[in-house]
Amino acid sequence: MRIPFIAGNWKMNLDRRSALELVEGLRRRVGERRDVEVAVFPPSVYLDEIARALMGSPIRVGGQNCCDEESGAFTGEVSATMLADVGAELVLVGHSERRHLYGEGDELIRRKVHAALDAGLDVILCVGETIEEREAGHTEQVVARQLRAGLEGISAPEMARVTVAYEPVWAIGTGHTATAAQAGEVHAYLRGLLEGLYSEPVAAATRIQYGGSVKADNAAELMAVTDVDGALVGGASLKPEAFLPIIEFSG
Ligand code: PEP
Repeated sequence: MRIPFIAGNWKMNLDRRSALELVEGLRRRVGERRDVEVAVFPPSVYLDEIARALMGSPIRVGGQNCCDEESGAFTGEVSATMLADVGAELVLVGHSERRHLYGEGDELIRRKVHAALDAGLDVILCVGETIEEREAGHTEQVVARQLRAGLEGISAPEMARVTVAYEPVWAIGTGHTATAAQAGEVHAYLRGLLEGLYSEPVAAATRIQYGGSVKADNAAELMAVTDVDGALVGGASLKPEAFLPIIEFSG
């Protein structure tokens, strides 16, 4: 039984005041719900304060990125241990904006997954194809490569701390959501890969979120797909009135 998992990736948006107002609104409405897991991913400078504001709430807090190294001369980077130290419980790894805008490749992403798990963080590993890759018929090949590389060396027990997010690059921030059928096909394919890499029980227990222009008006249809276990939400996670209906559809 996979509990739906709705995560809000704030990207480089909001300021301290609006971030605190947002989590206050979420905290009040999410209350003590246990039928859906909710997490927010603030910019790292606000993590400490947001984690404190959510103390005692089931809403979890995560970092949007982490360094693959533990400490040292890596100017501008933030380690997974530092994220954990200020209250993060999770981290996004391999988000398409990191892969495509900052040139992060599979090997770096693999190291980040290891660094995060070693620091005690749970991981959301993002995979997804570009529009060119989809149109060339390479979707499965691309997500398989990203999934295998990202999980290389990760044990079956560690998979209990990993969520996979299928985020077609062409759907992120564009308003072009994948159809339920498109999402369902890739999610089922990813679950099959997890079964091959680990086992049927690990594949059945691993949550696979869909991400890419999820909004209140398409969440119900996407969440109804068998292998879709929640959503990674960008734009619609920045306001309680946009994010809460997605959470409420999912529980
Ligand atoms: C994301 O940031 O992971 C995302 C899916 O963004 P959006 O919901 O805005 O497409």
